[in-house]
Amino acid sequence: MFDKILIANRGEIALRVVRACREMGIKSVAVHSTADSDAMHVRMADEAVCIGPPPGTESYLSIPAIISACEITGAQAIHPGYGFLSENASFVQILEDHDITFIGPTAEHIRIMGDKISAIETMKALGVPCVPGSGGGVPDVASAKKIGAEIGYPVIVKATAGGGGRGMKVAMNAGEMEMAFMTAGSEAKAAFGNGECYIEKYLQKPRHIEIQVFGDGKGKAVHLGERDCSLQRRHQKVFEEAPGPSIDAQTRARIGKICADAVANINYAGAGTIEFLFEDGEFYFIEMNTRLQVEHPVTEAIFGVDLVREQIRVAEGLPMSFGQDDLEIHGHAIEVRINAEKLPNFAPCPGRISQYHAPGGLGVRMDSALYDGYSIPPYYDSLIGKLIVHGRDRDAALSRLNRALGELIVDGVDTTIPLFHQLLAEEDILTGNYGIHWLEDWLERNLTA
Ligand code: ADP
Repeated sequence: MFDKILIANRGEIALRVVRACREMGIKSVAVHSTADSDAMHVRMADEAVCIGPPPGTESYLSIPAIISACEITGAQAIHPGYGFLSENASFVQILEDHDITFIGPTAEHIRIMGDKISAIETMKALGVPCVPGSGGGVPDVASAKKIGAEIGYPVIVKATAGGGGRGMKVAMNAGEMEMAFMTAGSEAKAAFGNGECYIEKYLQKPRHIEIQVFGDGKGKAVHLGERDCSLQRRHQKVFEEAPGPSIDAQTRARIGKICADAVANINYAGAGTIEFLFEDGEFYFIEMNTRLQVEHPVTEAIFGVDLVREQIRVAEGLPMSFGQDDLEIHGHAIEVRINAEKLPNFAPCPGRISQYHAPGGLGVRMDSALYDGYSIPPYYDSLIGKLIVHGRDRDAALSRLNRALGELIVDGVDTTIPLFHQLLAEEDILTGNYGIHWLEDWLERNLTA
């Protein structure tokens, strides 16, 4: 059993892991940059180590600094949270060589899923439905045009090394292919140092449905249903819910089983998310995230499980504390992401929080590292909190979200809170009638400066 876990992250997710450790009687070590000396995760952990200057590359992404912090404090395992080093296969490889346990899957699984082409090939071989496409990297414009003609327009050109919605361009017809292929490639080269792209059929009105899976690393795995994360801006999720308004029990059982069997087959360890586009009753795999997701709390709410505790247990070599038959959905949960951003352009808005009040009451969870007087540093992600509500059904969850948003106070910086007040007045949101383009279209109509 672990006595001490180091958390290689910051903000609300670092706090989330500190809380799980404390409940399990495990000591936690926070690491932080000099910009985060006063951060909540530093205050809440049992120990804290400063690992470098503000830029992420010199602190939260510095592998030598993080390993030294482990050695100084005697932490036996590292929880990576999401982002930063959570899907960095060479980090995991180095930890394996240093006898430090990584709380997550193997370096090999991270590597396979981190490369979109090998992820698609692997999933296809495991029986997971994929988007019709090139199947592999496309070498040049001429081949891109040939493939476009074969699969039929519109198509989307995507970076093999992509992430965060960057390096993706749609070509509506053959005339747009050259431009799409060149821009996706150069964007990918600039952002990821790898310009390789592949091509997929562009689905016009899909929903983003992702399946939460969990494996014990020894051939056993379960699924914990789906989350609908279709409400996105620039491919960034802003509102997530579970169960998905468009998914019935039979559909869930079918795709869930495919996903659980796939990860069981490869002896996958820990939490993972298999992301799909869902259109006309069909699922199309887009990628697998080999980590805990930002939106994991909606799944925790409806299944009554603690996914971080489970990650730690599996990393310790213990069996999972639930099997597929123990997992039953109760009610409905919604998460909204509170970002320090100024509408209508969503420009990051760091600064000092003059007043913070978290909502409470039945079925309300606020995951945030804010406090009165805290200064949001300008160096990191603009996510400052997640408000998660749980109710007996979707309508109850929506009413609770409305009520909780009314109680939430974040003063001193601009936030995305007003956006959610507005969204909750929209018929399509109230009925669950939205796809991946709904929010962008709505923003264009309602929030132009
Ligand atoms: P990233 O790793 O950059 O997040 P994804 O492959 O997960 O890239 O895609 C992100 C988003 O881009 C999806 O949620 C969806 O909105 C859109 N997208 C990706 N592939 C397609 C496709 N084939 N057709 C339509 N939209 C797509």
